[in-house]
Amino acid sequence: MKKINFYSGPAILPEEVLEQSQMAIRDFAGTGLSILEISHRSKEFIKVMEEARALVKELLQLKEDREVLFLQGGGSSQFYMVPLNLLGDGETASYFDTGQWAHGAMEEAKNFGKVQIACSSRDQNYDHIPKNYSINPEAKYLHITSNNTVFGTQFHWWPEAKCPVVADMSSDIFSRQLDFNRFDLIYAGAQKNMGPAGATLVVVNKNLLGKVNRKMPKMADYRVHIDKDSMHNTPSVFAVYVCWLTLKWIKQQGLKTIEEKNMRKAKNLYDAIDASSLFEGSVARDDRSLMNVCFRIDKNLSNAATVEEKFLQYANEQGMVGIKGYRTVGGFRASIYNAMPESGVQALVEVMKEFERSAV
Ligand SMILES: *Cc1c(COP(=O)(O)O)cnc(C)c1O
Repeated sequence: MKKINFYSGPAILPEEVLEQSQMAIRDFAGTGLSILEISHRSKEFIKVMEEARALVKELLQLKEDREVLFLQGGGSSQFYMVPLNLLGDGETASYFDTGQWAHGAMEEAKNFGKVQIACSSRDQNYDHIPKNYSINPEAKYLHITSNNTVFGTQFHWWPEAKCPVVADMSSDIFSRQLDFNRFDLIYAGAQKNMGPAGATLVVVNKNLLGKVNRKMPKMADYRVHIDKDSMHNTPSVFAVYVCWLTLKWIKQQGLKTIEEKNMRKAKNLYDAIDASSLFEGSVARDDRSLMNVCFRIDKNLSNAATVEEKFLQYANEQGMVGIKGYRTVGGFRASIYNAMPESGVQALVEVMKEFERSAV
């Protein structure tokens, strides 16, 4: 039986993307070769890479000075590449400390310069995004994480910053319409909402580069990758290929339709949580994520832990996987990225209702 995949990442991909990928593993673009064995310098793959980059530019409606790269190393490598390229010795960067990944990014920046915490919800286990913040006036950049994958909070507003803004959009890129040019650097590991693990999207305002005075390894220098059209070394051929398929799938629908669908899915699930007397949401309402819906068994229930186990097992028996909350958070997390159909969310809502009927 095909499972309904609520994992946070690697995560669900569109059915047709999986089918096309499967065919390309046998015969890629009529070359008689597998996508897994073809040269990254072949004209067929160069076309994929170029189209994927162009699609990103088109879908995000990026200005001319924005460069689109497909790199490796995941979101985590961007935690150090950003400060390495943008933050000189002794200079300051501001960070919104709104979740585990945001915190990780901030810690890495300390290797290169000074870090100022503009705000933090760490002592409340990141159950909200602070509305009060103060950005160091000297900051070279502000770093935010647009969607906090682990805790299920998401920015639905943007901080006022005089400096360039860097956004980790690993778990909500292409999920909604935005003015993407308000960010000077955007990065996203592919495996949440764009493709398989192994490719990392970077969108960077090239005017920001070349201002820090330090030696850096070529592989970590954005300018090298820009000069070489993301082909300085062997890219993740297969991962980029699957991203390209997914980007075409996104374009067919348009970001507006995708966003509307994502809003309906999230509303359906949050409404069910709010209407339930067994389940409750675990983050501030204003900050609820449309991508990662975190909830738990009502904390006031004396046997909450046992009921939680039972629900996980019950959901699993109904073919739903990946809804266990992150280990430091507990409870449940249903990741409902672009590729999750509305019927998948509806199935989860029904399972929750059915469980509640039998449990109380
Ligand atoms: C998953 C995730 C990361 C880490 O990504 P890797 O590709 O595993 O390095 C970073 N930031 C956010 C917001 C994430 O969701």
